[in-house]
Amino acid sequence: MSGFTPRALLDPDAFRHNLAQVRRYAPTSRVWAVIKANAYGHGAEWAAAVLNAAEGFAVARTDEGARLRRAGASRPILVLEGPVDTDELEAAVELDLTLALHRWGQVELLPAVVRGRLPKVWIKVDTGMHRLGFPPERVPAVLDHLIGSGVPIAGLLTHLANADVPEDPRSAEQCEQLRRLAGAARWPLSIGNSAGLIAVPAARSDWVRPGIMLYGVSPFATGTGADLGLVPVMTLQGRLIAIQQLRRGAAVGYGGTYICPEDMPVGVVNVGYGDGYPRHAVPGTPVLIAGRRVPLIGRVSMDMIHVDLRPCPQAAVGELATLWGSGLPVEEVAACAGTIPYELLCRVAPRVRLEVRSSGPAPSAP
Ligand SMILES: *Cc1c(COP(=O)(O)O)cnc(C)c1O
Repeated sequence: MSGFTPRALLDPDAFRHNLAQVRRYAPTSRVWAVIKANAYGHGAEWAAAVLNAAEGFAVARTDEGARLRRAGASRPILVLEGPVDTDELEAAVELDLTLALHRWGQVELLPAVVRGRLPKVWIKVDTGMHRLGFPPERVPAVLDHLIGSGVPIAGLLTHLANADVPEDPRSAEQCEQLRRLAGAARWPLSIGNSAGLIAVPAARSDWVRPGIMLYGVSPFATGTGADLGLVPVMTLQGRLIAIQQLRRGAAVGYGGTYICPEDMPVGVVNVGYGDGYPRHAVPGTPVLIAGRRVPLIGRVSMDMIHVDLRPCPQAAVGELATLWGSGLPVEEVAACAGTIPYELLCRVAPRVRLEVRSSGPAPSAP
């Protein structure tokens, strides 16, 4: 693998710092660190090893939990979508996974299990997201049934639909609805995702489920992680692999959508949509080269992008280019591509090398 291979440089200190920030926002909550989707593209096994101070991990699917167990993660692991059938339920029990149950078909699977062992379960309640969960009025019957079957219930869980809009009154209503259901039994509650635990005091429940903020990224539509005291964990980098000295009027890239307004240097960076860089990034999307922001020009290719090098004419082939991360918030790049940071992080492609930066001084990035 050459030194030019694009890399996602990962900062374990930033990761731990962001977990500490979660605890600042929600000091009395226990934390399920959400590391689904390969830890939002950062590498699930690595994430579990670095965040070993979290009380547990949350993933979407049983096979994500299995992967963490195989890697030696011994903390509680919550499977947010629960099992789909008996096979998956048995596997989950075997691996000591904690299961969120969101529909009756899953509840019915349980008695079929499993050489006398029963999984710990959280009951997922639909308080307004209308994605997964029991309607609140069915929850008492679900609880009765499970208690009657001897299943250990760990608590009630819900997901906020509008927490990224801090003033939205529906968030507090969702929290209140779950609290009412917990009732006299005082079931432990799990509500807040990143946006919830930052913006909605009532969502700082017994357990919180932060994802995106652990990676140093803001869950809100405006601002960046830095505004919230977070530090980006991933810095996506490629290198300049060619520099073209082009004439005024020269057309750049597929379709020739960019015409050089004057004689100018144009750089080619070896990162494209085949690496997870968004195809829809608009011209002008910033790229960081030699400490300067330079604009993306032309169409994004599979393996490469073009940049206008006039802001840093001294740049040479081999120079590092930062696509997002330290020095260039992924929030900004996502906005330029008409998407959200979550998607950019999750979509970093397997051919990008995940490289952990050693602790200590900052990496030799621009
Ligand atoms: C993905 C997810 C989270 C984490 O959300 P962030 O916005 O990344 O903090 C929490 N809870 C559930 C149910 C999720 O699906």
